[in-house]
Amino acid sequence: MFEIVFLGTSASAPSARRGLSAQVVIHDEHRFLIDCGEGTQRQIMQSGLGFKRLNRILITHGHLDHILGLAGLVSTFTRWEAIDGIEIFAGRWALERIHDLLHGVVLRGARSPIEIQFRQIQAGVIIEEQDFTISAFPVYHRGPDCFGYLFTEKSRRPFLPERAEILNIPPGPWRRRLVEGQAVSVPDGRQIHPDQVLGLERPGTRLVHVGDVGRTEEIEEFCREADALVIEATYLEEEAQMAKDFAHLTARQAASLAKQTGVKHLILTHLSRRYREKDIYTEAQEIFPGAIVARDFDHYQVRRDGLLKIEAVT
Ligand SMILES: [Zn+2]
Ligand SMILES: [Zn+2]
Repeated sequence: MFEIVFLGTSASAPSARRGLSAQVVIHDEHRFLIDCGEGTQRQIMQSGLGFKRLNRILITHGHLDHILGLAGLVSTFTRWEAIDGIEIFAGRWALERIHDLLHGVVLRGARSPIEIQFRQIQAGVIIEEQDFTISAFPVYHRGPDCFGYLFTEKSRRPFLPERAEILNIPPGPWRRRLVEGQAVSVPDGRQIHPDQVLGLERPGTRLVHVGDVGRTEEIEEFCREADALVIEATYLEEEAQMAKDFAHLTARQAASLAKQTGVKHLILTHLSRRYREKDIYTEAQEIFPGAIVARDFDHYQVRRDGLLKIEAVT
């Protein structure tokens, strides 16, 4: 299961209700900030997430509405917050711009009290943890080196406790090693193979995050049958030409991508201030019933068996 918390859902400029692009993806104790538009640090506080363990930042591309918040966030981290260092993952062009912002403006040659690591990414796996991976894939937008991110839980075979009982396998290290896929000898001398107590392999949850993007053909393979797709819907179809000119999508295009690729749940974000949320929603729903338009502070659990909205505790 992954969780996603939307911190900013507006395109280009903030509105009274929507901040600029930023979201946090959570998997157990791991947290990833995706994009960091202006005002993100206040959104983090208001969301109740706090700054703890928010040290890995994935950037979709280098446009200012996705990176300017790094200046304030890093400035705070270097003064007050108990964070030892941050890693910023992005394509080459975005990293250069972020480097200029942080070292040219925020630090101006001073040594940073926290370690700032710039991780230039290419398509492929960029982060591998014990039970999930994050892969980057190229997306077409204005300017070079724009990426989407695919969060994939590793598939696993569930432990079947009723089988273990029948086979009289005592609790403790024997069961743990079987879950890890190792054969064991139990105290009475019998050899037990993992196949005797593990069920069929279950694929893990897949969450796809696409930031700004102007074409959907190249990203279909990464979206295919994802449990959830988070993607921009900056324009409405009535301004499809403008969407094309600025390399963005209409709500209809985003919904068509989700439909064609068999995505289970679609969450739209990065809305232009020129439209009402309802119009984006209606256009997407015509193609993909069940499409959701994210609002700031929306919090979802993305699971194999569905999408669950977590209500904020107030
Ligand atoms: Zn943008
Ligand atoms: Zn952009």
